[in-house]
Amino acid sequence: MNDIRDDVRRGFVALYGYEPSGLWSAPGRVNLIGEHTDYNGGFVLPFAINRRTVVALALRDDRLARVASSFADEVVEVELSELAPENLDGWSAYPLGVAWALSEHGADLSAVSGFDMFIESSVPVGAGLSSSAAVESATAIALNDVWRLRLDRPVLAAVGQRAENTAVGAPTGIMDQSASLLGKQDSAVFLDCRSLESQVIDLGFEEAGLAILIIDTRISHDHATGGYAERRASCELGARMLGVGSLRDLSVDDLPRARETLDDVTFRRVRHVVTENQRVLDAVGELREGGPAGIGDLLDASHRSMRDDFEISTRELDLAVETAVLNGAIGARMTGGGFGGSALALIRREDLSRLQVAIDGAFAEHGFGQPDTFVVTAAQGASRES
Ligand code: ADP
Ligand code: MG
Repeated sequence: MNDIRDDVRRGFVALYGYEPSGLWSAPGRVNLIGEHTDYNGGFVLPFAINRRTVVALALRDDRLARVASSFADEVVEVELSELAPENLDGWSAYPLGVAWALSEHGADLSAVSGFDMFIESSVPVGAGLSSSAAVESATAIALNDVWRLRLDRPVLAAVGQRAENTAVGAPTGIMDQSASLLGKQDSAVFLDCRSLESQVIDLGFEEAGLAILIIDTRISHDHATGGYAERRASCELGARMLGVGSLRDLSVDDLPRARETLDDVTFRRVRHVVTENQRVLDAVGELREGGPAGIGDLLDASHRSMRDDFEISTRELDLAVETAVLNGAIGARMTGGGFGGSALALIRREDLSRLQVAIDGAFAEHGFGQPDTFVVTAAQGASRES
């Protein structure tokens, strides 16, 4: 963390020739359980991770906004009064989209000061750890401070989502920004995607000696935009045919009726969402009453549901999960939208290195490319660093 803070300050000074007035950071996130439930008005349980994006920023005397990042070889400049979703694109649409989205919550873009910003990050891009929400959330808390907007964190999460939906053009939910802004150390964020109410849930991993290992298959989920849209459409069809506004309105008791009413594919899509919502509720119950080791079976069941009913897993993700469970994991599942990306395993710390070796071996044996494996801990959400 110290390293990135030094790097971002140095990057800012090298580029703009003066010191930033402050540093703000926000983490990436992992979704512990609750997949493809967000757009069905359901439950998710992500946590903020110990990989962060840091922005260095200073206000200017004029109304020019300049943004730069170690991720890209360019400085993007725009007059704040000309900020609009249609003239934003590429990576700078994330930070500048947030500046624009704040204008819907009290930032008068014809009156606020311009700024210089430099971005540095340790959140891997495209690994399913939401580097995008980390950039948005760090930018949102920074501009909220220097523009003195006094917006609360749920509003800043909505601002990040608005930027991503409208300025970037990605139809994502609010889970990632909520985790990045509301996360606490060794805790998860239990989010109701319909009411947007959230609760911080103690994970207790530290005391129990447990860790989360991420197995990044390095297969990009980009190729799969069609699959994502298709799953959303199946969920909407299922809800319509069953006469409910969203699949959130169904419980496991409705599944026999769903089986009679729906074709097999739509039924299995619906069953995933309905049972996954219940698994999130059960996981929260276990964490509150039984302790973290009790969620292992729920993680395993979640994976099977995504593999067999929602059909969004891959051979690599299945192998990662099977290998994890065979090598001491308490539970394991693919995490994120599917069709690639990462799996997570909940495992005792002393079993970590054995599992990492086993994963590498299994992938080699199957002729798959080597995955990237690393431990994440549940960390504090977005914060001012200096
Ligand atoms: P992820 O799963 O990592 O969120 P996305 O495709 O949603 O993947 O977002 C990745 C995009 O976010 C990058 O292509 C880039 O445009 C932007 N981004 C992420 N990190 C940075 C960064 N440090 N600096 C600038 N832009 C970034
Ligand atoms: Mg993203």
